[in-house]
Amino acid sequence: MDIKNGFVATVGNTPLIRLNSFSEETGCEILGKAEFLNPGGSVKDRAALYIIEDAERKGILKPGGTVVEGTAGNTGIGLAHICNAKGYKCLIIIPETQSQEKIDTLKTLGAEVRLVPAVPYKDPNNYVKVSGRVAAEMDNAIWANQFENLANRQAHYETTGPEIWSQTDGKVDAWVAATGTGGTYAGVSMYLKEKNPDIRCVVADPMGSGLYSYVKTGEITPEGSSITEGIGNSRITGNMEGAPIDDAIQVDDRECIRVIYQLLNQEGLFMGGSVGINVGAALALAKQIGPGKTIVTVLCDGGARYQSRIYNREWLASKGLLPS
Ligand code: PMP
Repeated sequence: MDIKNGFVATVGNTPLIRLNSFSEETGCEILGKAEFLNPGGSVKDRAALYIIEDAERKGILKPGGTVVEGTAGNTGIGLAHICNAKGYKCLIIIPETQSQEKIDTLKTLGAEVRLVPAVPYKDPNNYVKVSGRVAAEMDNAIWANQFENLANRQAHYETTGPEIWSQTDGKVDAWVAATGTGGTYAGVSMYLKEKNPDIRCVVADPMGSGLYSYVKTGEITPEGSSITEGIGNSRITGNMEGAPIDDAIQVDDRECIRVIYQLLNQEGLFMGGSVGINVGAALALAKQIGPGKTIVTVLCDGGARYQSRIYNREWLASKGLLPS
């Protein structure tokens, strides 16, 4: 018998998918870790589970307690599922710029959702800071604190990294991923570098994020903006501190949308916006390092969460991003 014990045991062990059209185009093996197949629909299920189980082990999350988090949506969705499965309450602070689909999903899952204006991290009313204050003021509540809580990258160091290593039989030349908290990028990079220091670890960055300039010049100088959600940062989070970084690749929204529609029309994969940045960066990396290499990236979440945005022609046109 092969039966998973509930939602929690179903997190992780996702397939690694060869992206055929992109692989043929570049002569590299371009592989996507299918994180959209997690039971809560995104890569963040892994971090949510590790954060909750770490708090349980430390005795700070007690029966009937509340998990509070500031999130662009996916971490909140993962937390809300796990809270339901384990009997906790969930309170989510989310910037009002995030897609309605993610906000509606959080509400359907029974999380209390508080929308806040999207303001920069340095502002005390930034969603991350609000979530920390709200958690501190509540009884029997924990702050998941995904940006600084290292249980986040530990999830990827202990699960995503080893899965990629064994799924490729260790034949991986490069790993490239965009970062939100950096948990996925850092955990996988740290694991793969330990296995083989020659594996090239590359940060993918959308416009409007400061990591590309940080890697290239040592200064965080973001330029432009991006329609992608859940990725990009203007600071080095706790989860990114000490992570191996060999290089960075910047991908703009036009290329992101082109890639998203190629994934849809030629690969049959209906993906979220951050996947366009990841696969766009994998393509650019393939061109840099030449054919014959194996490049792994992440398929973070599915497209249904963005139906009203990147899959809506009027919305795309309003952003000047309608693909030809
Ligand atoms: N893609 C999407 C759609 C996300 O929601 C997130 C997390 N916010 C990421 C990528 C980045 O993941 P991480 O936080 O592990 O860097």
